[in-house]
Amino acid sequence: MKQNSKRGFYAVEAAIFLPVFIIFVLTAAFLMKYYAIGETAVHIMGDEASRASYEACFNPAAPVADGFKVKDRVEDSAEAVFDAESTGIYPYSLNGISNLARTDLSFRIRLGLPLGICDSFGYSGSVVYRGFVGVEGRNVPASRSEFEEDKDSETVWVFPKAGSRYHREDCSFIKVYPRQVLLTSAVKRKYKPCPNCNPGRNNGTTVYCFPAAGKAYHTGKCPSVDKYVISMEKEEAEARGYTACLKCCP
Ligand SMILES: [Zn+2]
Ligand SMILES: [Zn+2]
Repeated sequence: MKQNSKRGFYAVEAAIFLPVFIIFVLTAAFLMKYYAIGETAVHIMGDEASRASYEACFNPAAPVADGFKVKDRVEDSAEAVFDAESTGIYPYSLNGISNLARTDLSFRIRLGLPLGICDSFGYSGSVVYRGFVGVEGRNVPASRSEFEEDKDSETVWVFPKAGSRYHREDCSFIKVYPRQVLLTSAVKRKYKPCPNCNPGRNNGTTVYCFPAAGKAYHTGKCPSVDKYVISMEKEEAEARGYTACLKCCP
């Protein structure tokens, strides 16, 4: 009799504590997943920020990173992630420090509970960082309005060392001249390294390609690269004093 009541007590105990224990384990597993996804997301934002900074260093017309790349990478990082949205990189100031850059990101993590009581959890995070802007910080790289107007901007090509006109990509005046571009895998698929000037193979290096007939990419020191064109936003070209080419920008 005594034995039986003790056994009954264990059964009651198990009935109460087993579900609690299972809920605890499931919750812990979800939290671990939640933080792992969050950490990956922050890493992706940082990675995109460093890539954008790196490209901006080599190309005056390097595009400001938009939010789509961050959004796509985060959504690809885990199956449970959906509805991601990112602001891209925008100028920011904090505690009196200006010239900061910031990226915001939010998304939802699907929970997949059988009853559908609580379908998903929201996550939001941001990364703030600072580029080097000179010892005295006088060189403001771009104003907020410049960033905001970036959306429907137009890329034009100019001769950085000569000329006062800006051109569209297909203008016959610039067609025969090499273009300064960043070396990427896409460039390497289209062009081979020049055997005369032996350019590096590292992505991100500044190289020169002839768009019309060239098969090679070159360094700036190659004899074939004398006069070249660089790309920039039309607005920037106008701010630098370039005016529209009469032939291609009527
Ligand atoms: Zn032109
Ligand atoms: Zn060459």
